[in-house]
Amino acid sequence: MLLIFPLTLFNCGSSGPAVGNSKAVDPMPNANKKNPAKNLILMIGDGMGLTQITAGIYDNDNSLSFEKFPVTGLMKTHSYDNLVTDSAAGGTAMACGVKTYNNGVGVDKDGIPVKSILEEAEEKKMMTGIVVTSSLVNATPACFMAHQKLRAFTEPIAEEIANSGVDFLVGGGKKYFDRRDSDERNLSKEMENKGYQIEDFIDHQKIQDVEIIPGKKFVYFTADDDPLTKITGRDYLPYASKMGAEFLKSNSENGFFMMIEGSQIDLGGHATNLKYVMSELKDFDETIKQVLQFAEADGETLVIVTADHETGGMGIKEGSKLNNIKADFIYGRHTGTMVPVFAYGPGSENFTGVFDNTALYKKMKAALITMDSRE
Ligand SMILES: [Zn+2]
Repeated sequence: MLLIFPLTLFNCGSSGPAVGNSKAVDPMPNANKKNPAKNLILMIGDGMGLTQITAGIYDNDNSLSFEKFPVTGLMKTHSYDNLVTDSAAGGTAMACGVKTYNNGVGVDKDGIPVKSILEEAEEKKMMTGIVVTSSLVNATPACFMAHQKLRAFTEPIAEEIANSGVDFLVGGGKKYFDRRDSDERNLSKEMENKGYQIEDFIDHQKIQDVEIIPGKKFVYFTADDDPLTKITGRDYLPYASKMGAEFLKSNSENGFFMMIEGSQIDLGGHATNLKYVMSELKDFDETIKQVLQFAEADGETLVIVTADHETGGMGIKEGSKLNNIKADFIYGRHTGTMVPVFAYGPGSENFTGVFDNTALYKKMKAALITMDSRE
């Protein structure tokens, strides 16, 4: 019997190089190996798996800032009670170093509060900052500043944020602070009385228009609840992140810890909407670019980029072309795949290999301890 397979069945007919002359990026040389880092910036792409990053690279002429990192690792993301984590348990693992149940914010599996890396940085008299594209009371940022048995306890989370002493805060969720359902308190006023400069999207449509008052802590509310998507006009994440790093650096003798979240990559995955994912991913990449520029000039900043989990079970499909990606999602929920870790700066070499999300906390804590040994 003669079997004839048409060539096209195997898709081996060549139509030229897949990525043409597009340039791949060379990794940056690692800065300042002699001294431990003084500052630590953790950047979390919520729902950002390897496929989201790969698609972003091919959708951007085969080049994104992720390729600049000299050190990479892989991180397992399961929670205490589920192989597929939510952002609360994922955030708690990275912020506090313990596995907890899905929905737990800054607490262990028994609901007991556990100190976060941000709180430990505060104890070391470091400056601290949080910049996110979600509401500030959302699970990921909350895990660094609050301790609640359920992520749904948004007003108690706002109260903890108001008392957290964090020096630089940018994100949505204004209504949880100044028009609360559970009590009549105005947390924004209370924070103002404690030395915060409080600004918002109503007085200044853009954070770019805000002038910082020297000697005060800083809050800018970007929305009443969740901020806009990148597609519908949000543009503050890269700017606010660089502004935050410079603010914290200029006010700090003892270095700073900052967490930046590209919060809505996850929402794009939940919506199984490729355009949404790609626009948020590229916004996060632009933010990474700004942060790396800061870190390179500063020479004393350790930058870690990772994700809490993947969202959507995204896959790049045949028929994809450079700058024209075709992808599908298995569903609009989180998945249990490992996520990548990227590191740059003094101490970055400790972030390679395959490790658990609780180990990310331990590695960051070791970096903070080493910071103490600086001359
Ligand atoms: Zn999610």
